[in-house]
Amino acid sequence: MNEVDKARQDDFHVTGDSPDAGCSGSACWMVVVPGPFFGGFTYHHDHDTVGPAPRPGVRVRIPFGQSERVGVILEPVRDEAGQETRALIEVLDHEPLLDSDTLACLVWGAAYYHHPLGEVVFSALPAALRGERSLRVPALRLTADGRVALEEGRVRGSRQQDVLGMLATCPGKAPVAVSELPGASAPVRRRLVEQGWVDLDEITAPATWPPSTAVETPVGDTPPPVLNDEQRAAVTAVEEAGRVFSTWLIEGVTGSGKTEVYLALIEQALAAGLQVLVVVPEISLTPQLIDRFVRRLTVRPAVLHSGLSDGERMAAWRAVAAGSASLVIGTRSAAFVPLARPGLIVVDEEHDAALKQQEGFLYHARDVLIWRARQMDIPILLGSATPSLESLRHAWEGRYRHLTLTQRASGAQMPAIHCLDIRAQPMEGGVSPALMRAIERHLLDGGQVMLYLNRRGYAPSLVCHACGYVAGCPHCDAYLTWHREVNRLRCHHCGFEQAVPRECPSCHAPLSVRGMGTEQLEDVLAARFPGFGIVRLDRDATAGKGVLAESLARIARGEARLVVGTQMLVKGHDFPGVTLVGVISADQALFASDFRGPERFAQSLLQVAGRAGRAERPGEVLVQTHDPAHPVLTRLLSDGYAAVMAAELAEREQAELPPTRFAALVRADAPQADAVRAFLTEVAGTLRETHGEALSVWGPVPAPLGRRAGRFRYQLLILARIRSELHRALWHIDERVGSRRPGQRIRWSIDVDPIDLA
Ligand code: ADP
Ligand code: ZN
Repeated sequence: MNEVDKARQDDFHVTGDSPDAGCSGSACWMVVVPGPFFGGFTYHHDHDTVGPAPRPGVRVRIPFGQSERVGVILEPVRDEAGQETRALIEVLDHEPLLDSDTLACLVWGAAYYHHPLGEVVFSALPAALRGERSLRVPALRLTADGRVALEEGRVRGSRQQDVLGMLATCPGKAPVAVSELPGASAPVRRRLVEQGWVDLDEITAPATWPPSTAVETPVGDTPPPVLNDEQRAAVTAVEEAGRVFSTWLIEGVTGSGKTEVYLALIEQALAAGLQVLVVVPEISLTPQLIDRFVRRLTVRPAVLHSGLSDGERMAAWRAVAAGSASLVIGTRSAAFVPLARPGLIVVDEEHDAALKQQEGFLYHARDVLIWRARQMDIPILLGSATPSLESLRHAWEGRYRHLTLTQRASGAQMPAIHCLDIRAQPMEGGVSPALMRAIERHLLDGGQVMLYLNRRGYAPSLVCHACGYVAGCPHCDAYLTWHREVNRLRCHHCGFEQAVPRECPSCHAPLSVRGMGTEQLEDVLAARFPGFGIVRLDRDATAGKGVLAESLARIARGEARLVVGTQMLVKGHDFPGVTLVGVISADQALFASDFRGPERFAQSLLQVAGRAGRAERPGEVLVQTHDPAHPVLTRLLSDGYAAVMAAELAEREQAELPPTRFAALVRADAPQADAVRAFLTEVAGTLRETHGEALSVWGPVPAPLGRRAGRFRYQLLILARIRSELHRALWHIDERVGSRRPGQRIRWSIDVDPIDLA
């Protein structure tokens, strides 16, 4: 088999050229298939094969080893003298599913993130189109005879007249899908064909939008607000730069009206007949956002997220690719959707870690979209109240245009943030007396209260005071969390579960709980403040379909005055009634081992604080900590976010860490610690030997979670001043190590621009 295994993506050029004749007189094509292959495979196309012609971006059926596979054509290839190639069995699509810009982005993405090309290309297709599923549907075409018959009034039967009439209004002689021709029942079609008035044909199923099954809801019934000066200035700046590639960082405090800035620019692009792609970290957490877009704009957005059925996803994806949907709102995987008429890209909450894919193809949607915006030569807006240090640095150094919104748009004040020193305080379920008094005061004043605790379950551990036993996961280096509602111990890393032991398994003393989870906090507050209504927002409490939406609605209606939750609270909700936000503990984030700890801490604190005081009533934020003098905390409270980030940048420069260096993490795991350590030691050794000058290689060190699901995890951090040096080193690993397939059940992967060192 003529594999181009390990071919360098660098060498691929995606072009629309027609292929040279070659490969024994017929055209040759590079085809990619899912699997651990860094390149594609060459096949030829016999001209006597019936069906549509091959083109880049269409699916094909190919012989592969002893079996058959579905692949995607990447590009034409020249005949390599004397090379034997196998023939394509069938071309599956009339029209390319992926256009040349999108293919180019996928080729770049595979090379940049060091992931197998076929996997990358197939991950960009909706699941329904990763197999052989045909998009061809029967269609009718009006013949010359049919036109004459219609004109001369010779057609009898109103159904036949209707069908021919509809076909006659089509431009050119384009065939029309039977499904689009009401009245074209099988007998009517048969009669028309018998008369010679129509021909039967096949076309690609039309990708209309919105789908006919869409529920009618009001669209565009809300007028835009009058923009304030800062919003106006932001919109004008982007407008005046024109419809060419430029990256804009819109840094606007929570509630400053960033969304209105997006909406104004989106409206302009839509009015110019262009498409807009909006990518957000999580859609299910922000149903308000979609609703707002629908009410403000006159088009119905196509929405792309993981909660859709395969069919829904395919319909939305195709409508965007075909250009019939002008606005698409999606989560990170929407970063690869083909755009027929690109005009503008918006990435909201650009700092959010959810924009980075954490398994398989480890891309960052924001970075992919910046690449695409440049390729398509259109503007891209990155928005956040707490931008990533990466983006801030680009803005500070002039590579991104920096726009700031410093005031809340509604006229509300930013909430005041204060620390509560909880050293030696008598705590009640994790809540200090001072916080308890504040909660009471706000509730009695008619406000709503949100309490943030980034740990679900009842208690993060069960311990024995007599002998020190702690209930741990048998497969991970982690404690088991007690979930009292279901009375089980659960591992949050591997999903292991067990019944709660009645007593300490080693000394038979009774067990007690240690630490706080959201379940316990909910219990404590419900007992202390009965009658105020309480809602818990975490993964356990919102698992059922529709539960999250109902909980959010209860908060919005004011039925729940107390809200307890994890990270879920942090994401962009707009609840005007919230006047107090309490952070149960800042300590875990302040003392995180990841070098991004301080950055993450500042981001989540300001994001959760931003939920307070969004309307007339002023907001208050109270942060409990054992270390009120922590420099990151004091700097954030006295000098603000930019000051924290400037200090962070100086520290990263000193420590030679991203974003001042280019980084990749090589992760490996195996059932034996020795094997995985030895494997990474060898990789590190090779790199130091061959690329020592250009790189620093740290490790191997155990991952922060050193054992997970029974596998030992180690990692190697590679840092370089020059990006190309980093990639050269990674290619070296791919070629030297990847092709050799390390034994002993070692799994390994490369994470370029890692954002989570866990
Ligand atoms: P952000 O996206 O920055 O958090 P939003 O766009 O959600 O801010 O705006 C916050 C609140 O202020 C929303 O309720 C919004 O309707 C309102 N708002 C935004 N811009 C204006 C404006 N120019 N005039 C009045 N209200 C506004
Ligand atoms: Zn576990």
